[in-house]
Amino acid sequence: MSLSLDQLPPDRIFVGGQWRRGGGAEIESRFSADNSMNRIIKGASNQDGLDAIEAAKLAQADPAWRNMKPHERAGLLDAISRGIAGNIERIAFIQSRDTGKTLTETRALAQSAAGTFRYYASVCETADEALTVPRGDYLTFSLHEPLGVVAAITPWNSPIASDAQKIAPALAAGNAVLLKPASWSPLVALELARIMDEAGIPKGLFSVLPGSGGTIGNLLVDHPDIDKVSFTGGTATGRHIAGRAAQKLMPVSLELGGKSPSIVFEDCDPDLAIAGILFGIFSSSGQSCIAGSRLFVQRSLYPGFVDRLVEATRKLVVGHPFSARTQVAPLVHPDHRRSVEEWVATARKEGGEVLTGGARPDDPALREGAYYNPTIIAGLANDSETCRQEIFGPVLAVMPFDDEDEVVALANDNAYGLACGIWSRDFQKSWRVGRAIRAGTVWVNTYKQFSISTPFGGDGESGIGREKGRDGMRACMRQKSLYQDMSGAPHPWARWPTDQEPSPDTGK
Ligand code: NAP
Repeated sequence: MSLSLDQLPPDRIFVGGQWRRGGGAEIESRFSADNSMNRIIKGASNQDGLDAIEAAKLAQADPAWRNMKPHERAGLLDAISRGIAGNIERIAFIQSRDTGKTLTETRALAQSAAGTFRYYASVCETADEALTVPRGDYLTFSLHEPLGVVAAITPWNSPIASDAQKIAPALAAGNAVLLKPASWSPLVALELARIMDEAGIPKGLFSVLPGSGGTIGNLLVDHPDIDKVSFTGGTATGRHIAGRAAQKLMPVSLELGGKSPSIVFEDCDPDLAIAGILFGIFSSSGQSCIAGSRLFVQRSLYPGFVDRLVEATRKLVVGHPFSARTQVAPLVHPDHRRSVEEWVATARKEGGEVLTGGARPDDPALREGAYYNPTIIAGLANDSETCRQEIFGPVLAVMPFDDEDEVVALANDNAYGLACGIWSRDFQKSWRVGRAIRAGTVWVNTYKQFSISTPFGGDGESGIGREKGRDGMRACMRQKSLYQDMSGAPHPWARWPTDQEPSPDTGK
């Protein structure tokens, strides 16, 4: 890899279309593969935040943006998409340094972000407004208008992809956007700002405000000029944001945590199931909202299947994010590894038997990094704390089940409702079970597959609202009904002097 640390964004934040030194607290971005420093960034101060909000409000109201035709806005989104596509290696490098993810994964996330901007360029250009059926001599329209200023608050686990998923539809809808990235991963958002600036985003329409949730996050949520918060992160934070948003009756979309079940029926293709389950829980080192972290295996298949799964897990390559062989890279931060280790200790206390993993790797070359071995735990009850709470790490709990009704009840007996995987050759059964599961997304004989045109979101404690798809742009708009008179005649109720007798008021 020829990129060097010089390629990391400098210590500047992007406020109102200008690069400046932040006036807030310092934020450390570290490389979790060896705990070395990437950059120390001076984050946004309250004043930086206020400046960004003011600039966003002005830029959004500027007729040059407000009156820009959808196909022209689409042109801007397309230019951003091309800017991202032309910088894949650089973005991947920055994001891998920022989060510890493998380059294979961060390249894919960068490609996904480019695709998201391209998709919303086409949505923006092709979205129609509706002419509804009138009940009089007028035309009735159902129209969509931008909300104003949208705040996007994102987590550290897949920054460029989750940032794009919020920014692209909001811009397509004609809003201004303020992005607050997670404090563990501020760098790739600043790289995105550089690309968007070069692509010609109007000054002020987009800002990046690295800073803590408690300061910049709260400022954005509470400020009267923020018209929507689009949030991805933990359920506790989402609940806090929703509570504050309620005070100003502001719409929020919440993409939150998960504890997703995978269900393996005895009629499955075991090779397919094992590969999908490994990918579903151990890719991204389990730091994925949709990680399939509860595995239910039909009892008749259980012993042999679990043995094979354990064997395959032991063969996964835990290693450096820049090695092409690596499947399981370090966790994002040593503090996060501590949290995962505490969860495994809890699982042991709850009677869990660690079948593999449950420790840091022995390899001395990995000693300085935040690595943790892929872990499978048996013997836990579905209502144990370990199976109820999100761990957000490479930890899988396996449990047996006897029949379809039982497994549907077990899978649904959890506060989250984000995703589910079903492994079966029986189409009718997988259809029945897929319909009975409470989750925003269900995969049958596959896992963790995405299309930008397919809506994504959670039920229960996994969130409110859906992102992606054509409706993803509508979620950043307010709807207006407009009645346009076509008769040119005064309303008869007013008994306006005319030659004609007034017609009786029909009330319609
Ligand atoms: P988090 O702690 O909730 O943080 C997410 C974002 O919220 C960060 O930018 C954080 O800033 C900010 N924040 C924290 N407190 C805030 C406050 N009071 N007001 C406003 N913003 C605040 O979550 P995380 O640990 O970064 O991410 C992991 C979680 O995200 C997991 O639960 C995962 O399941 C979830 N996730 C969900 C999806 C989905 O689509 N459903 C996708 C990815 C991740 P700081 O970094 O400065 O604290």
